[in-house]
Amino acid sequence: MRAVILAIGSELVGPDRLDTNSLALTAELRALGVDLAWKACLPDDESAIAEALRRALADAELVLVCGGLGPTADDVTREGVAAALGRTLERDPAIEAALAERFARFGYRMPEINRKQAMVIEGAVVLPNRRGTAPGLRVDLGERTVFLFPGVPAELEGLVAANLLPWLRERTGGDEAIETRGLRVACVPESEVETRIEPAYREFDREDITVLASPADVRVRVCARGDAATRRARLEAMLERLGQLLGQAVYTFEDAETLEEVVGGLLKRQARSVATSESCTGGLVAERLTRVPGSSEYFRGGLVVYANAAKVSLAGVSPATLAERGAVSLEVAGELAEGALARFESDFGLGITGIAGPAGETPGKPVGTVCFALAARSGATERIQLRLPGDRARVREGSSQVALDMLRRSLLGFPLHWNSSK
Ligand code: ATP
Ligand code: MG
Repeated sequence: MRAVILAIGSELVGPDRLDTNSLALTAELRALGVDLAWKACLPDDESAIAEALRRALADAELVLVCGGLGPTADDVTREGVAAALGRTLERDPAIEAALAERFARFGYRMPEINRKQAMVIEGAVVLPNRRGTAPGLRVDLGERTVFLFPGVPAELEGLVAANLLPWLRERTGGDEAIETRGLRVACVPESEVETRIEPAYREFDREDITVLASPADVRVRVCARGDAATRRARLEAMLERLGQLLGQAVYTFEDAETLEEVVGGLLKRQARSVATSESCTGGLVAERLTRVPGSSEYFRGGLVVYANAAKVSLAGVSPATLAERGAVSLEVAGELAEGALARFESDFGLGITGIAGPAGETPGKPVGTVCFALAARSGATERIQLRLPGDRARVREGSSQVALDMLRRSLLGFPLHWNSSK
């Protein structure tokens, strides 16, 4: 079964309101294996609603319309739907009585304008709304069905649970669903992820694999339909293949798991600890590590050493290194990492120093130049210099991601240069 959602409300096509109803509806549809063909937000405009409904009925067997069932003159969803279906609107005395009773219960007389909510599309089934005044409607059109729901999210939710879901379950049988899973990759550009997973697009269905990018973090989502066993097998097969193609860049096969959670889990299992010395990230790495409950088991503490004097007095960076190499250098990053390790007596120390911008560029060190170091109690300090893209916020966010991924790779015994190969 395929569905279309029409979210009605002039505020939804303005600059400050998001249509969240369609997200809630889509989650319910997917859980029952119903595909969303498309969705649209429309203003409270009768002819626009009628036009969109005609198109929706040409594309899908199920059309879910929400919003615009209120009592005010701008609510014209019933009128638009009736016009598209060539049906009339009829007054329903039972709804009118229920409305009057509802107002009486709260000690009011029903305002005249609410009578409008007793208007029903000819032949429609009325869906009682216990959370508000506007009842929902279901119009059966042979092979096709249109549901009308109020726009208030809590009212919509109540009507969906009481009416749409039972109706759908009768028609979608078994444990059919559309299920999504995903893996996440750190510090590989979206275009490179795309290139590497290219074979999977051919081996599976192109539209079942989606790449979603945010700074220094790319998610690859996979989607499967069918009964539980079929879905699981297909999702596993897709994730396994993507895992082969992306290799060690994959930090989790759980869509909701963050890099700091993965790193925290590894530190905990290996009973090792970390401390940080941060300059351009201003404590962001420490902040991310401590977002995870239980991080006190492995995070010792962090220094925010923004001024050179603080790098010297707090992190133990040598004034000579600063003078000779500059604050943004592999050498200073290394000494920051080693300083954190020594100060906090941890197993690992992370050091970060860079130019987040927009100012601060020096010859040979453009904005986005960031030096990272990972010192370990046992073994040499690893250091890398990268040029990160984007504005100040992106450089800082990306830097925290690189630092955490350095630690992840080290804990797993992977090589550090993630960009060059698997
Ligand atoms: P109803 O059909 O329930 O009478 P309405 O459209 O007449 O709804 P409005 O006053 O326009 O009532 O909307 C009620 C509230 O619900 C508003 O805050 C509105 O922004 C919100 N709302 C309407 N549609 C959506 C949507 N698609 N997603 C999220 N919020 C919505
Ligand atoms: Mg509205």
